Amino acid sequence: MGKSGEVNVLDERKQFILFKNDGGCSGNGIKCDSDSVSGAVSQRACVYCGARVVLNPITDAYHIVHGPIGCSSYTWDIRGSLSSDSDLYRNSFCTDLRETDVIFGGEKKLIAAIDELATKQEAKLIFVYATCIVGVIGDDVEAVCKNMSKKHGIRVIPVKSPGFSGNKSTGYKMACNAIMQLLLPYRIEQKIEGVNILGDFNLAGEMWIIKNYLDKIGVNVVSTFTGDANYKNMLEAPKATLNIVQCAGSSVYLANRMEEEFSIPFIKVSFFGVEDTSSSLVRIAEALKNEEAKKKAIAFSNEESLKLEGFLDRYRKNLRGKKVAIYVGGGFKAISLIKQFNFMGMKTVVVGTQTGKKDDYEIIEQLASEDAVILDDANPAELETFIKEKGADILVGGVKERPLAYKLGIAFCDHNHERKHALAGFEGVDNFTREINQSINNPMWQYIKENKTLECGKECSL
Ligand code: SF4
Repeated sequence: MGKSGEVNVLDERKQFILFKNDGGCSGNGIKCDSDSVSGAVSQRACVYCGARVVLNPITDAYHIVHGPIGCSSYTWDIRGSLSSDSDLYRNSFCTDLRETDVIFGGEKKLIAAIDELATKQEAKLIFVYATCIVGVIGDDVEAVCKNMSKKHGIRVIPVKSPGFSGNKSTGYKMACNAIMQLLLPYRIEQKIEGVNILGDFNLAGEMWIIKNYLDKIGVNVVSTFTGDANYKNMLEAPKATLNIVQCAGSSVYLANRMEEEFSIPFIKVSFFGVEDTSSSLVRIAEALKNEEAKKKAIAFSNEESLKLEGFLDRYRKNLRGKKVAIYVGGGFKAISLIKQFNFMGMKTVVVGTQTGKKDDYEIIEQLASEDAVILDDANPAELETFIKEKGADILVGGVKERPLAYKLGIAFCDHNHERKHALAGFEGVDNFTREINQSINNPMWQYIKENKTLECGKECSL
C-alpha cells in the first residue's frame, strides 16, 4: 500500500486516481481505458456482461450463453429494457456446460441447443456468447455458428466474450462486432433521410421518449441500437444518413465501424438534463442540415425548459450545497450528471467511471467541484474511503454501489440498468430531481446519524 493524499491506495492504482486540487497523482492526467489492476478488485462487469448488455435489448433475438449456467443469470431481469413487441429477449438460453463438457468439449451441446431453437422455436436470429470456460477449452464457436447458419438458413452470430479476455469495454466491442456481422450483408447505396439511435437501451422506455422528441422536430428514426430493436428493423440501419450516439462508451466503436462501412457520419448526444437534451436536439438538426428541424428543436426545448423552471427553483433550495459522489459506467453519463448537479447548486466531490476515456475525464475535471477526487475503475474500498473523506450526502451508481451507500448511511440514486423509471429527456429531469430530493432529504439519514445506540444497547454499526 502507498499513500495518496490522505488515503491509502495500492501503488499500482495511484495513476487511476486524480485529486483535482493537486493536479492528479501522476501529474499527467488520469490513467484510464486499461485492464483492471490484478488483486485490486473492480466494480466493472466482465467481457461477457459488457457484450450482453448491448445485445440483450434486441427484442426478437435468441441469446444462447455457451458456458456454465451461472453466466446466464445475467439476463433481461437485470436490465430494464422495454419492448413494444416481442418479449423473447426476456428468456435466457444456456448450454449449461459441466465437468464432462470441459474434458470432452462443449460443441455437441451447442449444436443441439441451436438445432432445438431453430426447429422448435423457428428462431431467425441467434447470438451465441462464448464465456470464460469456452475460452479455456477452445470450442470452435465461430465454426459451429457458421455451419448452423448454413444448415438452418438463419443468422447465428458468435459473440467472442470470455469474461477474462479483457474488461467490460472489450465486451462492448465484441457486441458491436456481432452487430456489424449482422449488418454487413445489407450494405445499401440508397439512403433514407433520418437517424439511427445508438447506445440507448430503452431503459424504462427512454428510447420512446427520445423518438417522440425527434418526431416532434420532424426527424425520422430509421433504426435503433439496441433499445426496442428488432431483427427486421436493424437491417434498415445502413440506409440512415446520420448516427446519434447516446452511450458513447458502448457504441462509439459501432458508430466508427458504420462510418467506415456504410459512410454514415455520427455525433455524440446526451438526453440527460435540460441543457444536454436541448443542445442534442439542436445539434442533430444541424448535423442533418435541416433548418426547419432546428427551428422546431429550439422552440420545443425552450417550451419544455420553461415548464421545468418553476419546478427546479422549488427543489433547488432543498438541494443547494449538498455533496454528491458519482460512480457510473461511461464518461458521457458522468458528465451529464455533473452538469445536472451543478444546475441544482450541488457539488460533485467524488466521480468515477468504469469505462471513461481520457477526453471524458478532461471534461469531468473541469466540471467537478474544485476539491473533487476522480477515479477510473474504482474498487469498493476506494469509493468508501473517498465518500467518507469528502462527506458525500448521496451516491449515484448502479446495483453494485447501492449496498455501499446504505452501509455508509447515505442516500442513493440508481442511474443504471436496473431502474424502473425514465431519467432521460425533460420528463427524466422531473423524475431525477424528485428522486434526488426524496432520497437525500429523507429524515431517515438524520435518524441513522443521531441514534447510534440501538434498543439492544449495542452501537449502531452505520
Ligand atoms: S467472468 Fe466468466 S464465468 Fe463469470 S460471468 Fe463472466 S463469462 Fe461467466
